[in-house]
Amino acid sequence: MVTTPKHCPGWESFKNLKSFTCKCAKCGAEKEIFSDEFTKSHLCAKCGAPIDFATCSYEAGAGAPSPR
Ligand SMILES: [Zn+2]
Repeated sequence: MVTTPKHCPGWESFKNLKSFTCKCAKCGAEKEIFSDEFTKSHLCAKCGAPIDFATCSYEAGAGAPSPR
């Protein structure tokens, strides 16, 4: 198990999600982050900028079907 970093209050609910989508603050490209990667750092696949979790929005709320 990884240690969950202390982030903003909303972070707690992230842990129950399988994945959520982060938008690159620089170019706006979307990147899907999976639950086991929440504590890792991510780089935008498009422009290479580091993705800030604060800009993430989750889309797993109402049991959204995730293509696997
Ligand atoms: Zn980008």
